[in-house]
Amino acid sequence: MDANDARDYNSHMSLLRSQSTRATLRLARDLTRSVKRGHPWVFADALRDLPSAEPGTPALLLDNSRGRPIAVGFYDPSSGVAFRACRVDEPLRLNNDWAEAQLQRAWELRQRLFDATTTGYRLFNGEGDGLPGLVCDRYSDVAVIKLDGPAASAFWDIDEIAQWLVKHVGVTAVMERRKQRGREGRWLIGPPREQPIEFCEHGMKFTSDVVHGQKTGFFLDQRENRRAMRQLCRGASVLNVFSYTGGFSIAAGVGGAKRVMSIDTAEPAIAAANAHWRLNGLPDEAHVGAVVDAFEFLDGARLKRRKWDVVIIDPPAFAPSEASVTRAISAYRKLAFNGAAVTGLGGLLALASCSSHINEATFLEACEEGISEAHRRATLLAIHSQPADHPTPLAMPEFRYLKFALMRVE
Ligand code: SAH
Repeated sequence: MDANDARDYNSHMSLLRSQSTRATLRLARDLTRSVKRGHPWVFADALRDLPSAEPGTPALLLDNSRGRPIAVGFYDPSSGVAFRACRVDEPLRLNNDWAEAQLQRAWELRQRLFDATTTGYRLFNGEGDGLPGLVCDRYSDVAVIKLDGPAASAFWDIDEIAQWLVKHVGVTAVMERRKQRGREGRWLIGPPREQPIEFCEHGMKFTSDVVHGQKTGFFLDQRENRRAMRQLCRGASVLNVFSYTGGFSIAAGVGGAKRVMSIDTAEPAIAAANAHWRLNGLPDEAHVGAVVDAFEFLDGARLKRRKWDVVIIDPPAFAPSEASVTRAISAYRKLAFNGAAVTGLGGLLALASCSSHINEATFLEACEEGISEAHRRATLLAIHSQPADHPTPLAMPEFRYLKFALMRVE
């Protein structure tokens, strides 16, 4: 232990559970350049051996040729992603100063990106902010932390991070949401808040149920796409399929849509969509929320030759794994087929995919095939991805999961 380490040991606050590097890992292949260029993951099969250690043990990574240190990070012998690099530049040391600088850097970016008209956003986006496995969303004065797996949970000191958020970001309550389904969150800093929490997005009012809602209660990653659609809905009839709590519906309404329909199978989501519509002072009679299966609804609407000026389809991830890719592609094709069929001549069709295992080219091909099957043609007006509060390492294309294709349908 050198003087710096000793100082960190003695300081009473630590954002990391352990600051000494306890495992040494050696690459089995020449991945040095990939790691140094900013791809922070090393898979188990790229390591020479997997020493036994607890998940989340701080580790030093050595290259495959001469055994030179190239990164420090944390280790998980039980996961496919065996090593996550935190630091690839000297000094290769993980301490509280490093961790605090990373949090500060992420927070500075958000202060640049947002003003008082947007109070719901992602504060920390894991690897994209140089904070492997650590995700945190903010809704007004409430922060919601999510740790990606047992190694990240053992590496980061979540209670200290919660304190840091209170002190530096100014939130007054912090909750931890677990990845596993059915596991309720716990309040790290309370008292427990009554749900849902109100916040703003580009001046629109929304709420998020951070305890029971999907993800951390809201789909923050579609913020800029909601804003884009808001500009395009003046006087339009709008169909929002897989609406969740009505994000795109409210954006359309605020943008001057003459009527909006929201479709989702989740009853509480439609109830929240109705509540959000009213919260923004929009006229009751201009919104209809329907609790119904999207595929059945679209089939029925196509057969009845119903048409909307603007159709937005933002389904859940159909391909969360490589195995589900083929089925997912046919689901996107089906949605493009029905989506085009119910879009009026010259109308707009926006189709989104948040499946990380489907790349942009494959997704656009599925859109093209589905639209052609409906005997329609489309021009691509824009293809958007995640917003700036969901940054990704440039070297990590697999982290850019969101595709949002905006098309005009002829
Ligand atoms: N566009 C939303 C997010 C959509 S998330 C926003 O901007 O906030 C996907 C939604 O699809 C979820 O709310 C989920 O309840 C819903 N869903 C999943 N399967 C469905 C189905 N077969 N029919 C209708 N809705 C479905």
